[in-house]
Amino acid sequence: MSPATQYIQAMTARDKWTVQLTCPNCKNSGEADLWQEDGWSFSNGDQTTHISSVSDGFQATLTQKGAIEFSCSRCHVPANAKSS
Ligand SMILES: [Zn+2]
Repeated sequence: MSPATQYIQAMTARDKWTVQLTCPNCKNSGEADLWQEDGWSFSNGDQTTHISSVSDGFQATLTQKGAIEFSCSRCHVPANAKSS
């Protein structure tokens, strides 16, 4: 498989999903759009999750392991994230 073919496959095989965010302290709510490489990249260990957008009032932080943590930007406490 040529590098160009691999690139196209990665571009066309992305997983996208939305998570519902809730602050346990102030009950602020919002959502975040995420996507992850699928197919060739995924099976070769690229399982990094990327952030498309996050609602106002929340912040997303990427951990060193590639996981995403959400927090309330008002209270600075971790937000509850639930996949919809
Ligand atoms: Zn809050």
